[in-house]
Amino acid sequence: MRVIRTIQELRQALKLLREGSKKVALVATMGALHAGHLSLIKQAQKAADVVIVSIFINPKQFGPNEDFSAYPRQEKVDLALLVEQDVHIAYVPDIKEMYKADFATSISVGGITSGLCGDVRPGHFDGIALVVTKLLLHAAPDVAIFGEKDYQQLMVIKQLVSDLDLPVKILGAPILREKDGLAISSRNIYLTADERKIAPELVKTLREVAAAVTKDPTSPCEALLENAKSSLISKGFSSIDYLELRHAKTLASMTAKTDQPARLFVAARLGTCRLIDNIDVK
Ligand code: AMP
Repeated sequence: MRVIRTIQELRQALKLLREGSKKVALVATMGALHAGHLSLIKQAQKAADVVIVSIFINPKQFGPNEDFSAYPRQEKVDLALLVEQDVHIAYVPDIKEMYKADFATSISVGGITSGLCGDVRPGHFDGIALVVTKLLLHAAPDVAIFGEKDYQQLMVIKQLVSDLDLPVKILGAPILREKDGLAISSRNIYLTADERKIAPELVKTLREVAAAVTKDPTSPCEALLENAKSSLISKGFSSIDYLELRHAKTLASMTAKTDQPARLFVAARLGTCRLIDNIDVK
């Protein structure tokens, strides 16, 4: 595996591979790699000949009171894991390579970014849109894989790629979960032992609400959602940023599923952690 830290070196390496007609896939990560990331890499390996995994903790997607400086950093461990996975290129640019001192451009995707994490984390999706655009321009992959764990992010990236006519296919990957259902996340290590026991209640609640909506798709679900929020608080969550039913493609708010594709989205705080999750409503 090659570890590449500059845009120039990455472009040079990819030029040679492309001359050999290799299909290239990108998996963009912030490191602290776990089984969820590895499942994206497996999907990338099925979709392409060459897999690039980027590791870059993007300061522009963190708000001023968020955990940028505390975000887990374990480059050596991550690189060893990527070698084990037979990844071809680890792209690990530093902050100066990504954002030069006079950097002044922003990218803002409208529509799909309003509501859910877009409201709770102002500027977050601008930071995502910017870094993903840059990574796609650096690696120019044929396909790029993003997890449904960050479902709104996946939809923002699809919108961005469509709007800017970027020549890349965006694929979504299903959420990988722990045995007890908790969605795997780099931030789960910050849960205390007690919080870790409470955390799976998030997906349990989503599954219960989803089952109730499926059973009675034409009934308004506001009361159901309010009850579920109260139940999460009673189980130990300190606050609920949102628990909402939304259209699975447009992310428009829904009060009942009716015959539309729908998903449930939740973000809740447990101790110092903010957990997000989402599930399909059949
Ligand atoms: P991150 O390193 O948190 O920025 O995540 C990098 C990519 O991995 C994103 O596309 C995430 O949606 C995806 N991802 C993170 N956790 C999971 C998971 N548990 N299952 C599937 N994809 C995931």
